Amino acid sequence: MTVELFRNNSYLKEHKTIISEVLPEGLVLNETIFYPEGGGQPGDEGSITFKNNRIKIVGTKYINNKLVHLTETTNDCKQNEAVTIILDWSKRYSYMQVHTCLHLLCSIIPYPVTGGSIGDGRGRLDFDLETKPDKEDVLYKLNELIHKDYSVQISSITDQELDENPDLVRTMSVKPPRGSGKIRMIRIGDDVDFQPCGGTHVSKTLEIKLVKSVKIENKGKMNKRIILNF
Ligand SMILES: [Zn+2]
Repeated sequence: MTVELFRNNSYLKEHKTIISEVLPEGLVLNETIFYPEGGGQPGDEGSITFKNNRIKIVGTKYINNKLVHLTETTNDCKQNEAVTIILDWSKRYSYMQVHTCLHLLCSIIPYPVTGGSIGDGRGRLDFDLETKPDKEDVLYKLNELIHKDYSVQISSITDQELDENPDLVRTMSVKPPRGSGKIRMIRIGDDVDFQPCGGTHVSKTLEIKLVKSVKIENKGKMNKRIILNF
């Protein structure tokens, strides 16, 4: 199993590790700082270097429960080879900013989330909500929360604690990862937002770029799509 260093520290940009397996699609490593596609967030990109080689990592995702770094080629890649992985940091940092801001959006719109997507400088959430919120009001409240510079903390609760507090789950389309007995939780401020999440976040809300515009689309009677542009 790959050690997922990005879970406890999302700011790692470069890391030395070992190739544990070469697959047709790419490489499995002993440890990684690359986030695999999931929860609406794209898999990380970057590069891997060893000896005189530099190979592009074009994406990261789980394939048959293995965290695979998708590469253009696996020529010259060998098991047990020492490598350095380098993250496309500007893209990932943008995902972290957008992702954290979607948590703030959750705190403003207290309705179940039915879907979402994170992009570079853009993000959206769909809410099970009948009435369209006022977009200027959402914009103002988001930027106000960003300015308050709340801390973003990682913690965990047990499966049982989550079962006893089902309201903590905000996203109906993404199930919190169970099985290990512990569920990763993200808390913003003392009580701005608290929910299970496996993604990558900034550590203070002031790191999020101010939201430039909010667009709200009607996606059915009980579904409103809120799109944020940064
Ligand atoms: Zn999150």
